[in-house]
This record gives sequence, C-alpha cells and structure tokens, in this order.
Amino acid sequence: EAKAQGRGIYAFYTQALTRSARVRMEMEADLRRGLVREEFRLNFQPVVDLVSGRIVGAEALVRWQSPAHGLVPPNRFIPLAEETGLIEPLGDWVLEEACRQMVQWSAAGANLDFIAVNLSPRQFQRGALCEHMESVLRRTGLPAERLEVEITENVLFGAAAAAERKLHDMRDSGVRIALDDFGTGYSSLAYLKRFPISKLKIDRSFVHDLPRAADAEIATAIISIARALGLDVVAEGIEAPEQYAFLKERGCGFGQGYLFGRAVTSERFLRLALQGPIATGAAHPGSALLH
Ligand code: C2E
Ligand code: MG
Ligand code: MG
Ligand code: MG
Repeated sequence: EAKAQGRGIYAFYTQALTRSARVRMEMEADLRRGLVREEFRLNFQPVVDLVSGRIVGAEALVRWQSPAHGLVPPNRFIPLAEETGLIEPLGDWVLEEACRQMVQWSAAGANLDFIAVNLSPRQFQRGALCEHMESVLRRTGLPAERLEVEITENVLFGAAAAAERKLHDMRDSGVRIALDDFGTGYSSLAYLKRFPISKLKIDRSFVHDLPRAADAEIATAIISIARALGLDVVAEGIEAPEQYAFLKERGCGFGQGYLFGRAVTSERFLRLALQGPIATGAAHPGSALLH
C-alpha cells in the first residue's frame, strides 16, 4: 500500500519535474528569440537628492516585452538568463543602451550625474569586462565618470584577487561602483575597506517599516557607516513621506522609490529630468518635505 502510494508520488514528481523542465526550456528558447527580435526594453527610475529634490541620476531596469508571456519583470527572467549564460548578450545590450540613452539626455539638456546599470554575478565574472566597458563608453561617447555599476555583496563574497583587480581597474577608469541591496547578502565591513566602493544602496526591506522598529536602527547604522567612510548612500523603495522624512533627517543623501517616481520610458524620464526638482511634499499638506 505504502509502496504503491510511494510510486504514485514518484510518478507525480516525475511529471511535475518534466513539466517544469519543459517550461524552462521553452522560456530559454523564448529568451533567446527575444534577444534576436529585440523584445527587451529599458525603463529608468529617478534617483533623487533628498535635500534639494533634484534628480541626480537614473537606474536602468530591464523589461521583457514577450509576445508569449506579456510584459515580464526582471525577477522572472534574469535568474534564467544568468543560469543559461544569456545574461551576457542581454547585459551587453543593457549597458550599451543605457549609456547611449544617457548621452542623448545630456544632449537634450538634462543635467544628470550618472546612469546606473545592474551587473549580475556572471556578468561580473566575465574575463574582459573592463575592456568591454571601455569600448562601450568609447562607442557611445559617455564619460566613464557618468557610469555607475551596481553589484551585490554576494559578488564580493570570497572574491579572488582577480575580482579585486577588476574592481580596481574599473574604478581607475573612472566608473563608479555601488553596492546594491546592501545589508541583505554576505555583508562584511571588510569589503568596504578592501574594494573601491563609491556608494551603498540601502535595501528596500530596511526602508519598508521606517520610521518604526528595527529598520530605523539598521538604516541609521548604514547611513553612519557610509558617511564615516565617505561613501554616498541611497535608500531604495521609498514609498511614504514618513520614510522619506526619516531618511533625510538621518542624513541619507539620496533616495529612490515610488514616492519620487517609478521606472519609466526614456522619453518620460527625460521630461521628468528637465522639469527640475521633485516637490514631494505637495500632495501631503502638513508635510511639505522638500524645504
Ligand atoms: P534592484 O537593482 O534592487 O532594483 C530595484 C527594484 O525595486 C526595481 O524592480 C524597482 O522597480 C523596484 N522599486 C523601486 N522603487 C520601489 C518602491 O518604492 N517600492 C517597491 N516595492 N519597489 C520599488 P525591477 O525593475 O522589477 O527589478 C528587480 C531586480 O531585477 C533589480 O533589483 C535587479 O536586481 C534586477 N535587474 C533589473 N534590471 C537588470 C539588468 O539590466 N541587469 C541585471 N543583471 N539585473 C537587473
Ligand atoms: Mg539595482
Ligand atoms: Mg537594489
Ligand atoms: Mg533591491
């Protein structure tokens, strides 16, 4: 009886595995085709100076407009792209498109300090990453100082001398390096000493409950570490005026989040950037925050 039941469960798992393997393979084929058919888009989210309200830069966030799956958010295809290696051609496209866009915005009169691009671990591990980056900068005409790459702490975990050299080469060329989702990975303060990091991005999971509870302590601690080490600090996922007020009051320099703006097309981003400072307090009488 138990044996028969065991077989039934086994058959069930085999079927389920086969199905998920098939779904994966189809998704991989769709991704591959999507690259050829240019189905990927970049959206841009403003990064705001919390004191002046000025949009200082943009983070490029990729989307997949798939005929089969609709508009697919990155969390649903980046991991597969990473596993299959498709992240390399996709990441190349993202980098070049983001740089090209930044040059266009500047030509159109936008006063922006940087464009930020996310690099996944596999992209970072690529041999000729710095050479590739330099060739993209040359081709697009973007000054290296205007490019920022976002990596996560996990990329640095157990990093070999080669990875360390790569980061130093990148920084020496003028490109800035931000630690994304800071506090959620293998956080080690030793990294901040060993690697040429310019910016910490406080993960939005630590912004969520501000100004309450543990988030207040964690966010405050990250801000003071960043300030003590002379690093810029950006809070992710600011949605509420209270979160914003708290972070600003604690000396967090920059922020990103739905309160200031979601990721939008390049055309809409340019319009935003040309409009001048974001007046966050306006919709909330009694909390005119940007003063
Ligand atoms: P991330 O780099 O930490 O990007 C921030 C994510 O938080 C974005 O999601 C953004 O839309 C979202 N977000 C921003 N403000 C708020 C807010 O106020 N509330 C909430 N709930 N969410 C907010 P998105 O665009 O879905 O990207 C998810 C992740 O996918 C990114 O996290 C990044 O790790 C990865 N990703 C996106 N684009 C690329 C890319 O071009 N290359 C690579 N390798 N990874 C990418
Ligand atoms: Mg990021
Ligand atoms: Mg992030
Ligand atoms: Mg995040």
